[in-house]
Amino acid sequence: MNDAAILSRATPTGSDPVSTEHFDVLIVGAGISGVGGAYHLQTQCPGTSYVVLEMQDTFGGTWWTHKYPGIRSDSDLHTFGYRFKPWRGAPIATAEEIRRYMGEVIEENDIARHIRYHHKILTAQWSSEDKQWTIDARRTDTDEHVRFTANFLYMCQGYYRHDQGYTPQWDGMADYKGRIVHPQTWPEDLDYTGKKVIVIGSGATAATVVPAMAQNGVGHVTMLQRSPTYFRTGRNAIELAEELRRLQVDEVWIHEIVRRKILFEQDAFTRRTFQEPEKVRQELIDNIRSLLGPDYDVDTHFTPRYRPWRQRLAFVPDADLFTGIASGKASVVTDEIERFTETGLLLKSGKTLDADIIVTATGFDLCVMGDIAFTIDGEPLNFADTVTYRGMMFTGVPNLVWVFGYFRASWTLRADLVGDFVCRLLADMKANGRRSVTVRLRDEDQDMKILPWIDEENFNPGYMMRGMHLLPKRGEKDEWAHTQDYWNEKDEFPKIDLADKAFVYG
Ligand SMILES: Cc1cc2nc3c(=O)[nH]c(=O)nc-3n(C[C@H](O)[C@H](O)[C@H](O)COP(=O)(O)OP(=O)(O)OC[C@H]3O[C@@H](n4cnc5c(N)ncnc54)[C@H](O)[C@@H]3O)c2cc1C
Repeated sequence: MNDAAILSRATPTGSDPVSTEHFDVLIVGAGISGVGGAYHLQTQCPGTSYVVLEMQDTFGGTWWTHKYPGIRSDSDLHTFGYRFKPWRGAPIATAEEIRRYMGEVIEENDIARHIRYHHKILTAQWSSEDKQWTIDARRTDTDEHVRFTANFLYMCQGYYRHDQGYTPQWDGMADYKGRIVHPQTWPEDLDYTGKKVIVIGSGATAATVVPAMAQNGVGHVTMLQRSPTYFRTGRNAIELAEELRRLQVDEVWIHEIVRRKILFEQDAFTRRTFQEPEKVRQELIDNIRSLLGPDYDVDTHFTPRYRPWRQRLAFVPDADLFTGIASGKASVVTDEIERFTETGLLLKSGKTLDADIIVTATGFDLCVMGDIAFTIDGEPLNFADTVTYRGMMFTGVPNLVWVFGYFRASWTLRADLVGDFVCRLLADMKANGRRSVTVRLRDEDQDMKILPWIDEENFNPGYMMRGMHLLPKRGEKDEWAHTQDYWNEKDEFPKIDLADKAFVYG
């Protein structure tokens, strides 16, 4: 999209704003990151005025907008939950359970009065003269144009477009007489009882929808995948947590102990995927073989071509996907789509699949900074032209931090770390009478190689590959990259030297 298109799309209503309010910090989004950000601000920076703007009609972000059958986390809630609020349930949780937990955080900390729902932010303009951002938003309920000014932007808008998912265009889609559904916009009235359903995709979403439908009256559900994915399975319980509860240990302790155990084990597992990828690969595949029996064609359907962890490794609680397949209610086809037909799909192998409903579990549409059009002193800002400082600040962009979590560990672990950093930075600026902070490459960074946001060899899901050109760049040094390494960052972040030459204050 060119600059003119960005600006014209972003013009709120063409009208003057009906109100203008000022806050020290403006948080974008009331998902798990934004609600956590609000908690950190008010506990670590008391006296800081802040507002959370959220375009939906309630909090939850991902856990509100996704409503497909079975919607659940694929990481455990001890680490996906906040550091400061114990998780008491089973480790893999439904969207409803996650929202209930977030609701408690909002209630217990009196955060609700800071959140404005139905506020879709369209533009953010930085003025170096005023040293503040002007944020224009449209109220999605009244269509009013409202304006805010803020000293600091705390970007918690996630990384993908919420109103639509990514659906590739296949030949013949218009000919298909059944219903095509994307999991991100699941129709409330969709009745799949007794129906033949195809789910295109094999990621965490497909692995959730397929067993949920298999258990809830579908005629038959086929998971159609172009290529296989790795899955881990296990009981949806943590024995250590159960044992500590039997011993009546305090929940705050249980949360901390279980978090440490999970993090330790995840780190060990991730390291193994790099150190002995073949062995880990074999273990993962052998597990699936043991669930599906010796006659099942695991080589075709569950033997991925990539190294484990190069794409997010989904956990399947109680192996329900595989129970569904073993029961005959669900099946897997590994093939490619040639075209849609009136009754279903023609595959490249020549095989046809008929279906009443086709679910396109084909992923997200990545978006950078919530589709907000940014300008700095009137100049359109393209984040792809910036270099990231530790995956949270960007060269030449003043007073702004983005929460971008981890792929291989729970997102919220990083949301908490970034929250600590934001609060330390704000407190330091206040103590030193500074009104702006911008990161810039230091003299010693001038010859550093500038690379895409993430190393394709390291992690390469489709939505990242499709959207990489939109994302900021990274440098070769750790401080100029999102390292995806919680174990390193948890020690490094508190030690970030705010007097380093990378920070320019004004
Ligand atoms: C189905 C699904 C399952 C997932 N499971 C896991 C998991 O188990 N573990 C894990 O670690 N990660 C998981 N993820 C990744 C997940 O997105 C993050 O973990 C996390 O929920 C992101 O939280 P967030 O608050 O940063 O962003 P989001 O949840 O995306 O929330 C951002 C909020 O910002 C709002 N917003 C965006 N733009 C604007 C704007 N312009 N104006 C106003 N408001 C705006 C949105 O409406 C939204 O409410 C999952 C993702 C999906 C889609």
